Amino acid sequence: MASFKLNLKTLPFGSQSVNYRLGADFFSGDEPTEVSAADVDVEIEVTRKSERDYALTLTCRGKLSIPCDRCLEPMEHTLDTTYQVNIRQEGEVLDDSRDTVLIVPEAWHELDLAPMVRDTVLLTIPIMHTHAPGECNPQMMERLGELEADAHDDNDNTAGDPRWDALRKLME
Ligand SMILES: [Zn+2]
Repeated sequence: MASFKLNLKTLPFGSQSVNYRLGADFFSGDEPTEVSAADVDVEIEVTRKSERDYALTLTCRGKLSIPCDRCLEPMEHTLDTTYQVNIRQEGEVLDDSRDTVLIVPEAWHELDLAPMVRDTVLLTIPIMHTHAPGECNPQMMERLGELEADAHDDNDNTAGDPRWDALRKLME
């Protein structure tokens, strides 16, 4: 896999950009995701503005395969997104709690951008994601419908309970 390391100390002043292409392997590392296939072009543009200040623009375009929330079959998710952040080398502690600037310890020689790229892509996935109406797998929908009906039957366990029988008699 391509390295997403940004060489903070040796980066020339001015702007430069690097391009990457992400496949499914990028999303199946230490923290696996529900992405089963991917074809995403990433452009990272970095501008070194001073000894310690950098401006970064990530542009991610492409598509992913993720399971549909309704039928669980793979569905295609298209993305086209840009994320911009400033980076400043300062102090000794990494601070990513600010909105527009990422503080990186002064002593660091490089910054791994892979987590940022990953988050930028994954954040484009809506919380609820489903096939367009009518495009879910009909067999899966039928199967899921049966499972749901079974679950309801299991919950309906008042039948045969003597207390309920007594109550029913009172109601009659
Ligand atoms: Zn579906």
